Amino acid sequence: MKVQTMRKVFLGLMAVVLALLLLGWMGERPILSGVAVGILVASALCFWVFWRCPYCGKNLGTLSARHCPNCGAKLDPDPGQDPYDPKARDDM
Ligand SMILES: [Zn+2]
Repeated sequence: MKVQTMRKVFLGLMAVVLALLLLGWMGERPILSGVAVGILVASALCFWVFWRCPYCGKNLGTLSARHCPNCGAKLDPDPGQDPYDPKARDDM
């Protein structure tokens, strides 16, 4: 799975968790809050396992990462672009 797709999946899961927590709290339905906590725990595990650099395999840290903090590779290079090309680094 591409890094950009994984980022969208994680952000979507966090939106679902937030919505379930709000619905559980507003509707006084603790089962929704329990489901939200379950999704949150599963998401944290998936984040820890799958949120990794496709080049070196190290954890990427924050969801806003655009480059690997370990090897410096650009996470979503343009097609044909070298992910290690220093010119591709837009944060330097
Ligand atoms: Zn890396």
